[in-house]
Amino acid sequence: MYLDIEDILRESGRSKGIRVETDPKELNVVADDCEFGQPIVLEAELSNINRIIRLKGRVETAYETFCARCLKPLTQKISVDIDEDIVEVSPSMREDSYTYEGKSVVLDGVVSDAILLRIPIRHLCKENCVI
Ligand SMILES: [Zn+2]
Repeated sequence: MYLDIEDILRESGRSKGIRVETDPKELNVVADDCEFGQPIVLEAELSNINRIIRLKGRVETAYETFCARCLKPLTQKISVDIDEDIVEVSPSMREDSYTYEGKSVVLDGVVSDAILLRIPIRHLCKENCVI
């Protein structure tokens, strides 16, 4: 998920809306017992705030898994809000920052982190599922 941001980097305060669809395999989204077979869609606004890129929007996708109790197959849709700052690579940045370099930004890390943080440890087909 690579984006050209030359246009908004030209001036602080600039922003643009984006919509990107990516194959989950390209993003390397991997979680136990979850099969990602549908596109990952990112709809967001990118803004340049004094050369910090603010990414604000939403990621949507779906994955196949199964109930932890009865093993019934389940399709889970997820929709995750994203609101992150992406900083220019520099010696003084924090190590855990999302970064960009030059005139482009790779959003793979921020998007896959958002998805993986949203996946529950186990899935149930219904709250009171019993075998
Ligand atoms: Zn169940």
